[in-house]
Amino acid sequence: MATAAIDQKQLLINNEWRPASSGKTMDVINPATEDVCASVASADRADLDAAVDAARAALNGPWGQMSARERGRLVRKLGERLMERADEVSRLETLHNGKPINESRHVEIPAAAECFEYYGGWSDKVMGETIPVKGNHLAYTLREPVGVVAAIVPWNFPLLLAAWKVAPALACGNTVILKPASQTPLTALALGEIAIEVGLPKGVLNVLTGPGSTLGQAIVEHPGIDKIAFTGDTSTGKGIMRGAAETLKKITLELGGKSPNIVLADADIESAIRGATIGIFYGKGEVCAAGSRLLVDRSIKSEFVDKLVARAKKIVAGDPLDPKTRLGAISSKKQLETDLRYIEIAKKEGATLVAGGGRTDIGTGKGYFMQPTVFADVRPEMTIAREEIFGPVLAAIEFADLDEAIARANDSTYGLAAGIWTRDIKKAHYVARKLQAGTVWINTYNVYDTAAPFGGYKQSGFGREMSAHALEHYTQIKSVWVDLNM
Ligand code: NAD
Repeated sequence: MATAAIDQKQLLINNEWRPASSGKTMDVINPATEDVCASVASADRADLDAAVDAARAALNGPWGQMSARERGRLVRKLGERLMERADEVSRLETLHNGKPINESRHVEIPAAAECFEYYGGWSDKVMGETIPVKGNHLAYTLREPVGVVAAIVPWNFPLLLAAWKVAPALACGNTVILKPASQTPLTALALGEIAIEVGLPKGVLNVLTGPGSTLGQAIVEHPGIDKIAFTGDTSTGKGIMRGAAETLKKITLELGGKSPNIVLADADIESAIRGATIGIFYGKGEVCAAGSRLLVDRSIKSEFVDKLVARAKKIVAGDPLDPKTRLGAISSKKQLETDLRYIEIAKKEGATLVAGGGRTDIGTGKGYFMQPTVFADVRPEMTIAREEIFGPVLAAIEFADLDEAIARANDSTYGLAAGIWTRDIKKAHYVARKLQAGTVWINTYNVYDTAAPFGGYKQSGFGREMSAHALEHYTQIKSVWVDLNM
């Protein structure tokens, strides 16, 4: 029973596991071995229609009638059951994504479970207000669910980014169609199985696996879907925004980044090196908020880069399923090729390669593994300083003074996150206010909590995930007026 869904690898529609109506399937590749590790159904418009009908019916069925407290209890149970199955689900996350099991088991899956716990607690605390209006009227607001929500998620944190959407959507009484990335569908299917195990009524959470270009596009166009919560590439996000205009769907977009990590001359150098390393090599750099632009004060640049390179060279790729591994496999052949292409561009444009720079292997002759890579002498106009690579490739750029550091940090179409390292508390807060980014980390990097909002400025998207702010995107406000004249 525990792994039934994964064995079947079918679509979850109305609490039933079904093959795609077309009979089509897609292979899932383990990036550490290049083997096919699963085959899943490939849904199309007919399957989507069925899922939308189920999700719509659930809004008008037991789910719509359920008390907010009971709904919250079920959302919390999703998190509890996920933790009970954490070993197995973490293994799936590592199998299809290539991330170290240490990250899946001790960071991502617990964070996803915590997200369900957090939003389950919110369910019965989402409320309207009474308003002191003119005349003899009672005016109040109701906060109602938006309706059928589609959650479209990428491959880098497949289950966590699903939880960031599914948990608040369910907590607010919506129903959900979850579409994982084609490369990483397995943990979304496990979540579907958990939903059945904890007793989520039928149609409340539906999981459709399939390609973005067809299934994703059909979701964007479908008139029966009220809202899309999307995480992924900026260009895909722009297409979703254009496509959603036709049916005026509500959308929230969490998109790419080219986040600056700024080291001032007075920083605690050892901590800053640790932070710069975690900023770019955690998650193989396949982290939307990765600190991929390291901005270092000119006066400490040589010393800092030398120490960073020494540290980077100690990080060796290994078998993702080995608990000791800290650098796993790049998620796909396509992403590996992207990383390598940017390395060639950087060399051609005159950046100095000081660490890594190529593919590696872990002794098996298989798998998409990369060396941790650092470029020094990167100028702000170079391609690797401007475009998101989404791999373990760091661009080190120098600055002369604080104003130049801020200007260079903000010289990007993106604005997802930023870091600042300094012992001067006034400078730290001054810079935090000047940076155009949705998250600023001071003397730390890559820390998250479900209670703290996360999302982008500029072309890194709009809307916030996590925290109480996310609830605004999964509810709509109705004003109710009552004539009190006797
Ligand atoms: P992607 O945009 O290719 O795919 C994301 C999802 O969208 C997948 O499920 C995909 O199947 C689907 N999709 C693709 N084309 C679609 C279309 N035309 N219509 C609807 N859906 C479509 O992105 P990716 O390569 O999976 O993920 C990497 C990107 O995600 C990076 O750019 C990264 O920065 C970004 N990201 C952002 C955040 C954030 O919070 N801002 C978090 C993680 C990843």
